[in-house]
Amino acid sequence: MTTHYDTIIIGAGPAGYVCAIRCAQLGLKTACIDSWLDDNKQPVLGGTCLNAGCIPSKALLRSSEHFDTLKGPGLHPGITLTGLDLDLDAVQADKHRIISELTGGIASLFKANGIEWIAGHATLHPERQVHVRHHGSKKEDKLSADHVVIATGSRPIDIPAARLDGNLIVDSEGALSFDSVPERLGIIGAGVIGLEMGSVWSRFGSEVTLLEAQDVFLPPVDRDVAAIALAEFRKQNLDIRLGTRVMKSTVQEKTVTVVIKQGDEEHELEFDKLVVAVGRRPCSDEFVAPEVELALEQGGCIHVDENWETSVPGVYAIGDVILGPMLAHKGSAEGIAVAEILAGQQGEVNYDSIPGVIYTDPELAWTGKSEQELRNADIPFRCGRFPFAASGRARAMGKTSGMVKMLVHQDSDEILGVHIVGENASELIAEAVLAMEYKATSEDLAMTIHAHPTLSEALHEAALAVNGEAIHIANRPCPK
Ligand code: FAD
Ligand code: NAD
Repeated sequence: MTTHYDTIIIGAGPAGYVCAIRCAQLGLKTACIDSWLDDNKQPVLGGTCLNAGCIPSKALLRSSEHFDTLKGPGLHPGITLTGLDLDLDAVQADKHRIISELTGGIASLFKANGIEWIAGHATLHPERQVHVRHHGSKKEDKLSADHVVIATGSRPIDIPAARLDGNLIVDSEGALSFDSVPERLGIIGAGVIGLEMGSVWSRFGSEVTLLEAQDVFLPPVDRDVAAIALAEFRKQNLDIRLGTRVMKSTVQEKTVTVVIKQGDEEHELEFDKLVVAVGRRPCSDEFVAPEVELALEQGGCIHVDENWETSVPGVYAIGDVILGPMLAHKGSAEGIAVAEILAGQQGEVNYDSIPGVIYTDPELAWTGKSEQELRNADIPFRCGRFPFAASGRARAMGKTSGMVKMLVHQDSDEILGVHIVGENASELIAEAVLAMEYKATSEDLAMTIHAHPTLSEALHEAALAVNGEAIHIANRPCPK
């Protein structure tokens, strides 16, 4: 017998589980199917983000930051420490505790909302039929629904020049799980994962080399912010090599030899571990029965219309599996919007102000358009900047590197983009997102009172600087 639901969601990452909760809140009979198994082969919710992405990486960034602060000369003038030790097993156990508390939390939310959690691999068949193969069993259950939402996420891209061997050459999941600190760590790709993972292991003591194919550092990020970040990372001994192609990798018993090409020259490098972090690709095909004609975009993303409906009527797609930034909060926003559409309401996502964050030290955070995007689109703009070196709070914290840069429309003064590199940029950016959501002007922000002394005053001062009215720096026009 086929069990019928109002909505079946395939995938319980931040797109799928949030969609499931919102569907249930809106009174829809909801099932959520997910295939993820933890290290003990137990089904868990939360997808990549909670199990092998956002959360474990931030847990390790925090523990490695503590270690780095304590071991460094920068602990605090007048404070010294001896006998510092690193127990990596305990650090990893703490990471697992955080993950399981959060994934268990989602299971509790599912229960509280009456969502049926089905552990297993789902296949999409015609007429919104979904077959589930349970773990360790050949038996399939047949389900059907009025609507199916695909939230199957993404997986790491692999490259022929460095095939994963699960031991010496690993992807981001492997890089989150090292059981000892590699002496020499190579990372292919100086993108978000490369920089976050490189920071973690460098703070724990690895000598880190990042091999980046492009000549430009962090192309999607505003050039001024990227330039400050690159200089800071290099000061931290992250050896970031731009314009570097990896030609070949050879695994020996305990090391990996990598042949790289920079310009016309080839060199060999040796590492104890090699991480491949060259982007992710959508999981969009392997769960679709041959009779289902699901249209894909270039790059394998599932094609959706403005209501996130795919080419198959009644089947929707959200999160990493569709176009757009592969970010947890983008997928969750789509999950809520689709649930509301399925319940007969309106669902919207403002793609113009989705924040991006890189959780390094300093952090990078941005929303809206970068200066180069405005120039390319011929949008006239004005700009205000404020360096953290001029912030009383940043000075008191000993965190003076970086700045806030605000871009506004030349005529209307509407905020078009905010770019931050510095301490707590990940939290500060929320004010800019809210301002943009309400179509605020730099004048609105300049008239808003910010507590003193806080880092948020840097946003206030950047807004004042747009009109040459910053108080705590000499006002100069932004360089053209
Ligand atoms: P996923 O989280 O990938 O979830 C998809 C789920 O679907 C998985 O559980 C999978 O097992 C399941 N599934 C797939 N196919 C099937 C099937 N056929 N049947 C049943 N289940 C299936 N983003 C941020 O916003 N902030 C961060 O700090 C951040 N850090 C990251 C760090 C790392 C190391 C990585 C790798 C990613 C990070 N991301 C971060 C990206 C973020 O993890 C993804 O954008 C997010 O997880 C996408 O959510 P999703 O729900 O679309 O897919
Ligand atoms: P990415 O796109 O951020 O970076 C990949 C980098 O690898 C790019 O700079 C690219 O030029 C480079 N590259 C590609 N092919 C290469 C090659 N053959 N040799 C050398 N360099 C090569 O991708 P990622 O770092 O793998 O992250 C994947 C996704 O996960 C991203 O879309 C990101 O949004 C998401 N993520 C987000 C966060 C966060 O929000 N803080 C953290 C981690 C991951």
